[in-house]
Amino acid sequence: MTTTPTPLDAALALAAAGVPVLPLRAGKVPFGNCRACKDGACGGRPNMKSAGPCRCLAPCHAWAAASTDPHVLTSPVWAPVWREAVAVAYHPGGAGLTVVDLDNAAAVAWARETLPPTRTVPTTRGEHWIYQGAMTSSNSVRPGVDIKSLTQYARWLGPGTGRMALLPAAVRALVVKEDTTPRRGGVASSLPPRATWDRTVATGCRHTERYVRTGLERGLAQVRARTESGAGSQAFGVARFLAAQHTACPGPCGLASIGEEIVSAAVSVGVPEAYARRAVANGLETAVERAA
Ligand SMILES: [Zn+2]
Ligand SMILES: [Zn+2]
Ligand SMILES: [Zn+2]
Repeated sequence: MTTTPTPLDAALALAAAGVPVLPLRAGKVPFGNCRACKDGACGGRPNMKSAGPCRCLAPCHAWAAASTDPHVLTSPVWAPVWREAVAVAYHPGGAGLTVVDLDNAAAVAWARETLPPTRTVPTTRGEHWIYQGAMTSSNSVRPGVDIKSLTQYARWLGPGTGRMALLPAAVRALVVKEDTTPRRGGVASSLPPRATWDRTVATGCRHTERYVRTGLERGLAQVRARTESGAGSQAFGVARFLAAQHTACPGPCGLASIGEEIVSAAVSVGVPEAYARRAVANGLETAVERAA
């Protein structure tokens, strides 16, 4: 073991390359949540599917704790975890990547026939095919095939070989059903064609146009300022904050248009669109649920 880099060494090298990482414990699974986060009591982190306010400093919530920040990775809270870690995982979606996880030889054979060649990494019984571009994750899209990207972690098994190709339509199509399912509450599916908020979409809003517009511009600026990281979480926070201003309005207040503007701002600083949409939709829904 003396010549093998420790999981922390490997993690720091990946983080320096912009890949969010997390430790895995024996059994090659993420560490359990701390007491405060147990069973999701904290509500979860802002970047999760069901976004919550958790700011726990420990590596709780699996992939959602993945970080590129060396200060976080080497913090005292993470230190005991690294001592027990046996492997490193990464959050492919957070690095703008998609891993097609092929569990066995049959799945690999299918990929060779069906998918464009890209960078591949051997796994215990199969291969990871890694594409440039993020998408919704989905398990068992075919026998032995998982898609790991947003809201998933993948084990780091080395850099692999081959040139990374752009995420092809053939891979996106594997989970297309999930992508086109209307969202609960209809937030994203009821988006009007108009992309900017104005008074005509807010016939039941009790605020002045100036008030709404000023708050929205301030929120958009906060999202656009997150050019390095955190724009997705910021988009969630801004959506929740702005939606909360309208909980006493009879409505409609044009929240879908407000959401669209926040999504555009997040996408403009590099947040994958699907991720941005989910963060904003969760923010809007959270505000509404709190008010209910
Ligand atoms: Zn925690
Ligand atoms: Zn938590
Ligand atoms: Zn309103």
